[in-house]
Amino acid sequence: MAEALGYERLMLFQSVRLVPPFKRLLAYTKTTKRGGCLLADNPAVRRHLAQMATEINVAQALEDRAFALLKKGEPLDHEASLLKLFGSAMRQRFADRALDILGPLGRLEDDEAGAPLGGEIAKLAKTVVVDTIGGGTSEILKTVVATRGMGLPR
Ligand SMILES: Cc1cc2nc3c(=O)[nH]c(=O)nc-3n(C[C@H](O)[C@H](O)[C@H](O)COP(=O)(O)OP(=O)(O)OC[C@H]3O[C@@H](n4cnc5c(N)ncnc54)[C@H](O)[C@@H]3O)c2cc1C
Repeated sequence: MAEALGYERLMLFQSVRLVPPFKRLLAYTKTTKRGGCLLADNPAVRRHLAQMATEINVAQALEDRAFALLKKGEPLDHEASLLKLFGSAMRQRFADRALDILGPLGRLEDDEAGAPLGGEIAKLAKTVVVDTIGGGTSEILKTVVATRGMGLPR
């Protein structure tokens, strides 16, 4: 059962799914001006983008490690919990940062005029709320990582 939960935790939030929205957001910042300046020239926006790119890469590295275990025929254990713990919180930070970058318009949804990026960030921001619950809450995953991953007492 624990092994099956590990598979779910591995598959739930593959970081590759954030790559297309990230690329669209990046392109948006290079073509959209606020207050007369390109968003891509704004230091706060650049910091957000750098952090988002870094975290997607970290999640990819954690996924690669988990898949490498599977390829060797070894069962997934705390590695999947660590990945889901990081990936779910990372997706929430991604959505928060993207909303910061887009400003108030970022909350507009796909059927509303002027929604940037077709409202995809607004939709993402709604869906990521449950990411730290479904498939095991972050508290439970931390316990798995602490006990089974680090050998800490229960
Ligand atoms: C969108 C969504 C889809 C879902 N899909 C499915 C599905 O397809 N199939 C399925 O079987 N389930 C599904 N679930 C259920 C999901 O797995 C559970 O909601 C989740 O595991 C949390 O369990 P719970 O709701 O019983 O919360 P509880 O276990 O009651 O936890 C409530 C709170 O207490 C904390 N807590 C509980 N125990 C501890 C502890 N020992 N130490 C520290 N903190 C603790 C939790 O972290 C949480 O914050 C889904 C949930 C959501 C939100």
